[in-house]
Amino acid sequence: MALDPPTMLTISTALAAAAALYLAVEWRSIRESSLLLWSAGFATITVGSTLALLRMSGFLLIGVWFANGLLVLAHGFFLLGVARFTQVRLSRAWSLIVVAWLALLLLPDEPSWSKVMLVANSLLIALLSLRASFLLRPHGKSLSVGAVQLRYVMLVHGLFYIAKAITAVVPGTLIDLAALRGEIIQISLVEGAMAIMLIALSMTGTERYRREKQIARLAERDPLTALYNRRALEIRAARLLAGVSSARPGALLLIDIDHFKPVNDLYGHTAGDRLLVALSELIRSILPEGALAARLGGDEFVIVLNDASNERVEQMGDLLRKQFHQVASQSFATPEAVTLSIGASLFDQPPASLAVLIEQGDAVLYESKRGGRNRMRLVDRTLAASEPVR
Ligand code: GH3
Ligand code: MG
Repeated sequence: MALDPPTMLTISTALAAAAALYLAVEWRSIRESSLLLWSAGFATITVGSTLALLRMSGFLLIGVWFANGLLVLAHGFFLLGVARFTQVRLSRAWSLIVVAWLALLLLPDEPSWSKVMLVANSLLIALLSLRASFLLRPHGKSLSVGAVQLRYVMLVHGLFYIAKAITAVVPGTLIDLAALRGEIIQISLVEGAMAIMLIALSMTGTERYRREKQIARLAERDPLTALYNRRALEIRAARLLAGVSSARPGALLLIDIDHFKPVNDLYGHTAGDRLLVALSELIRSILPEGALAARLGGDEFVIVLNDASNERVEQMGDLLRKQFHQVASQSFATPEAVTLSIGASLFDQPPASLAVLIEQGDAVLYESKRGGRNRMRLVDRTLAASEPVR
C-alpha cells in the first residue's frame, strides 16, 4: 500500500479518534480535567484531518484554512490540559492566536499562499507545543516519569514544527497545500501519526503516575491527622532502627491521651477529632529531622527517634505534655484533666522489630497511667545504663 497523503491523513484521523476515545475513557476513571482537555484536542484533530481530505475536491477554505486552524486549536487544548495539570494560569494573550488565524483569511490568492499558511500554521503549533513542554519542566517538585515523557515529546514536536517552518521559507521548496504535495508535507504527515501515539500515551502516563503517587501517599497516612499509619511506620522505621548503635541510640515514645473518652461524651466526636488533630500538630512541631511519628489508632500516637539521649527524650516528653495540657484545658472543661501519658524507652541495639518496641512501650505507658497519668516514664535499655557505676 502506497503511503500517499490521503492514506496518511486517514490513518491519522483513525489514530486521533482512538486517542480521543482512550483519553475520555481514562477521564471516566481518573476524573482529572486535563484528560478531558487532551481528549478534546484529539477529537479536534479527528475532525480537522477528516475535513483536510476535502481539499482534494477543491474545498480550500474548509480543507486547508479551517482544517489547519483546527490543528492549531487542538494544540491549544493540549496546552490548556498541561496548564491544568501543572496548575498554572495561562495569560489571556494566548487567545490572540485565534485572531492571528482569522487574519490569514485576508491573504491574497497568490502562489505564496500555501507557504505563508504553512509557516503560520507551523509556528503557532510550535509555540503552543514548546510552551506546554516548558510548563512541564521540573520546578522544585520532581516530575513523574509520564510527565517527563510528555515534556520531551512536546519539545521534539515543537522543534519539528520550527524546522518545518524554516524549511518552508527556503527558496525552491515545493509546498502545495491544496494538493498535499511537497516533501515537507509528506514527512509532516508521518510525524503527525507518530506524535498522536506518543502524545496520547505520555498524557495517560502523566496522570496515571500522579494518581498512583497520590494513592500510595493516602495508603500510608492516617486520614484524620495525616500522620503515618502503623503499616507505613513499620516500613519506614526499619531503616531508622537498623542504624541504631551505642554512638547513636534510638528512642520510642508511646503517647496516649488521658481521659479522652469524656471529651467525646461531653463535647461530641467532632470535638474529640479536633483534639486528636491538635495533638498531631504538636507532635509535628517538635519532631526533629529524621524522626518518625505515627498514629497507631484511637488516641495512641508514637514517635521514633534516632540519635536520642535521656535528656532529649525527657525534654521532648515534658514539652509535649505541657503544650497539650494547655491546649486541652483551654478547649474543654472536663471532670478529670485531659492530659498525656507517655511510655518511652531508650536503646542502643537494633530491636528485633518495631512491634517488640511498641509492646515494651505499652508496658511502660501502662506504668505511667497507673502512676497517676500526666507523666512520662522512661526506661533506659542502653548498655551504659546497665553498667555498674564505679
Ligand atoms: P485513658 O485515660 O485510660 O487513656 O482513657 P481514655 O478516656 O483516654 O480512653 P481510651 O484511651 O481507653 O480509649 C480511647 C478512646 O478514644 C475510645 C474512643 O471512644 C476514642 N476514639 C478512638 N478513635 C477515635 C477517633 O478517631 N475520634 C474520636 N473523636 N475518638 C476516638
Ligand atoms: Mg486514652
